[in-house]
Amino acid sequence: MKNWQAGPGRLHGHQMKANQPLQQKPRVLLVTTGGTITMLRGAGGSLQPCDDAGELISRIPELSLLADIDVLSLANVDSSNLTPDLWISIGRAIYQKMRDYDGFVVTHGTDTMVYTSAALSFILQELNKPVIVTGAQVPLEEIGSDGRANLINAVRVAISDLAEVAIVFGSMVIRGTRAKKISVFDMQAFVSVNEISLGTIGLTIKYSDFAGLRTRKKPLLRAFLNENVAMLQVYPGMKPEIVDFVADNHDGIVLEGYGAGNIPNQKNSLIPAIRRATEKNVPVVVCTQCIVGSTEMELYQVGRAALDAGAIPAMDMTPETSLVKLMWVLGQTDDLADVDSMMQKPFVGELHEVG
Ligand code: ASP
Repeated sequence: MKNWQAGPGRLHGHQMKANQPLQQKPRVLLVTTGGTITMLRGAGGSLQPCDDAGELISRIPELSLLADIDVLSLANVDSSNLTPDLWISIGRAIYQKMRDYDGFVVTHGTDTMVYTSAALSFILQELNKPVIVTGAQVPLEEIGSDGRANLINAVRVAISDLAEVAIVFGSMVIRGTRAKKISVFDMQAFVSVNEISLGTIGLTIKYSDFAGLRTRKKPLLRAFLNENVAMLQVYPGMKPEIVDFVADNHDGIVLEGYGAGNIPNQKNSLIPAIRRATEKNVPVVVCTQCIVGSTEMELYQVGRAALDAGAIPAMDMTPETSLVKLMWVLGQTDDLADVDSMMQKPFVGELHEVG
């Protein structure tokens, strides 16, 4: 591991030449985007991105024992400031370097990490090696940081047999489309939703039976995205005009309904607004606000009414994955029937089919 200075969008460090002898160590590309893991405290005590994430990371000697690592800096921001175009940049950068490395690690802020991991899952399909996203609750430079262990474990997973987009955080390896940030405090900030985790990190790393492992597949870049999608949470007293306004200005909506995907249909009924949106070719995908479970929109009259008005059930996808998937689907088609069937079909383990 050498030349660890990272610059904007530039690749540093070891490059394998065609006539070089076979490398002993696996090769990993580490893409930095910012986040707490590489933040420092500014004048007022608030955490802010450091100037040189690659240099901070180079102070972890264990990493170079595990792999030859190159650093590519694509952003250096608090992940609250990330926008969907970065998902495409990360996906393209990794795809372009796919054959040059044995695995990939993306360092990222925890706040929007699950959106990025979901997006990378849809953008990079048929993977034959791991793409691992990680970060920290406490900056690398501070006492008690979880960043060092997370980064080392991320590299361990990146050179392992796994071949999926996954978040490595604390003791868990979580499928990219199944992760949820549930704590601003605990070191185990993420959980796997509606599916056991892909793997567990203990004395060794153990993967679940269903985890995708390295094969001879040929990776696909499916870099589609229509960013003009909105997400709204249903709440008691919500005015239907809000849905109308959002439908007028967007190409798709994710509506976080109650429980099994239930939507008010009496006072302040949102059903006519869902019908109006659908008639204007703006798909309304209904997911559940609950952390665990699936939409089951035929169970109650309030869910059935939304279905009859054209709502598309998100089943057991998280709201974050539903949003990213709708952007990805609308990047490919605006045909409502196609959107409907694609939203309900699993592409990368993001949902369990009913029945
Ligand atoms: N605000 C930070 C970020 O998402 C939080 C973190 O990284 O833990 O960039």
